[in-house]
Formats: sequence, structure tokens, C-alpha cells
Amino acid sequence: MDYYLKCNICNEKYGSNYAGQICGSCSGLLEVQYKKKVEPNLDAESFWDYEDQLPKSKYRHYLLGMTPLVRAHESRSLFMKMEIQNPTHSFKDRGSAVELAKAAEYGFNEVVCASTGNMAYSISYYSKLYGLRSQVFISTDANKDKINDIESVGDAQVHWVKGDFNKALAQAEAYSKKHKAFLTGDYCYRKEGQKTVAYEVMQQVRSLTHLIVPVGNATLISGVYKALKEMKAADKIRKMPKIIGVQASGCMPLVRAFKLRKPLSYERPRTKADAIAVGLPTFGNQAMEAFKETKGYAVAVNDRELEAEKEHLYENYGIVAELGGVASLAAYRKAGIKENDRAVAIISGANV
Ligand SMILES: [Zn+2]
Repeated sequence: MDYYLKCNICNEKYGSNYAGQICGSCSGLLEVQYKKKVEPNLDAESFWDYEDQLPKSKYRHYLLGMTPLVRAHESRSLFMKMEIQNPTHSFKDRGSAVELAKAAEYGFNEVVCASTGNMAYSISYYSKLYGLRSQVFISTDANKDKINDIESVGDAQVHWVKGDFNKALAQAEAYSKKHKAFLTGDYCYRKEGQKTVAYEVMQQVRSLTHLIVPVGNATLISGVYKALKEMKAADKIRKMPKIIGVQASGCMPLVRAFKLRKPLSYERPRTKADAIAVGLPTFGNQAMEAFKETKGYAVAVNDRELEAEKEHLYENYGIVAELGGVASLAAYRKAGIKENDRAVAIISGANV
């Protein structure tokens, strides 16, 4: 759909021909604003049936999305959304499919991103499909097994950064300026792609009461919130489910801000759940708004609970997922969800 971009900080507007995702005046985050009211399609049969709800581009219809929903046999109130069945085994592919189409449309030869692992894997894969080179900046804290995958799926060049994700992000941004590479990652186009998870979930489950979402950079949770608002505004759903955000207790800036009712502040990650180890979530403020507007909340789970959940999923369902990927399940057990509720836990990644 036709759209423009608007800065979240200084409100400056940019046409869809603006080849970037960060405000040129104040470096604020841009947001996609559609020119017409969004009418989410809740009868979709393919991911690409959502094309009218995404920023206009020359998309190539590669296979992704439409992931299965599995009902848990241990509880009637729990459903698992299997985002691990996307091409690179994580929810990131929805965002990459949108973002890389834009990069190709603007005529770039190269893209750059910072990542804890899954993002780089997904961007490397889609950039290769779109004929683009990719440079990925990865923290030395990241999971080494994932990095081997990245080098085998695409032509990504990996740059190791001593420090955490936020350090890697600063270097990726500097690289993009210096080499005129399209900066990809947790920005506005990715958020639009991530939005589609919520369309699918609301199509798959009726009367959903809780949507449990893992939080790293908070792009997924803010995308899900945007989609729910669109569906509500278009009268496609009666009520928004409560949005529950999950972080690892070793890296929980959002949980802390929510519980203490304080502004978000940086926290050094200390968790083995690398996919959600982000010390200062880019879309954190939007996640806070999502909790407020849906009467949702933030939950922390520790690494021991994540390990137990990962084992549980394998032993009872034969499903392999990573620690960050099962965070929503661990949160389900302690989120105060009742027998008659209907909750969806997003199983977000399986790169182990
Ligand atoms: Zn601005």
C-alpha cells in the first residue's frame, strides 16, 4: 500500500522514495504510515495475501509465513505459534522479506546489520535471494553455532565486535554511513513484516485472550501491537488480547521499567538466551505502550526455566527450539493465565 515515513521524535515526514530507515534530521526511528486505512485480510491463504497491508515494493513471493499453530496437549488454554518453520527457522524472515525488497528497490548493492545471530542468518539468506551483498556485525557474546550457519547460507561477511549487541549496532550504523550500505535490522520496514504474525494468529484462534511475545529489540512486540490496532480499527476483531512481553531475568530492561514504572535504561545482558539478549530495546517505548493499551504486562524467566522448557518441547512434541525461542512458553507457566483463557505463545526461533 502507498505510504510515507514519519519520525517518532521530531515528526518530520519522508516520502516512500526516501532510501533509509532513520530520520535524516534527528536520527530518530521512522514509522511507516499508510495513506489509506489498513484493512487486514483475515482470510489469507498465503503470506503474500497480506501484500496490501505492507509498504508498497517489488516483492518476490518467496515461501514464508503461514506457520502452523499447535495446541498444547498439557493445557487447553495454550497454543504455540511455530515461527521456527520459517525458512531460516525464526520469525525474523517476515521482516527480512519486506526489508530486503526495499533495499533492492532503492538500488543498493550491499546491506549491513547488527545481530545476536538470527537476524544475521535471515538477512544473509534474503539478501542473497535479492542479489545483494551483506555485512553483519555480531557481538562476541553471540552463539558461535549460529554464525557457522550464517556463513553457509548466504555470502555474508561476518565482523566480530567485542562487546554486546548495542556495541555491534553502533558499528553497523557507522559502516552503513561510510560505505553507503542499506542499514537493515530492527527498523520500520522489518516491523511491518513482523506485524503479519498477529494477523495469522487472529485468523487461527478465536477469542484470544493473551498473546505472549519474546522481547529482544521489541520489534516483534511493537509490530504485533500495530497489527492488533489495525485489526481493531477495521472492526476485524472485537477486542485486542493482552500482550505479554517476555525477557530473560539476566537481561530484562523492559520488565524492570514496567514493574518500577520508570523509563527504560540499559542493562548489560547476562543470559544464555542470546536471541533476546538486548540491553536496551530499540522499540522498548512502543512495547510499554502495548502493555498499557492492552492491559498486558512484562514477565521475566530465568535460564534454568528456559532450559527446562526447551527440554519439555523436545520430549513432549519432538520440537527443537532455542532458549529465546521458548521464552514465551516459560512465561505462560507464570503469567497467571486461567483454564478458560486462550493464550498463544510465539515459539520464535530454533537455531541451535
Ligand atoms: Zn527526526
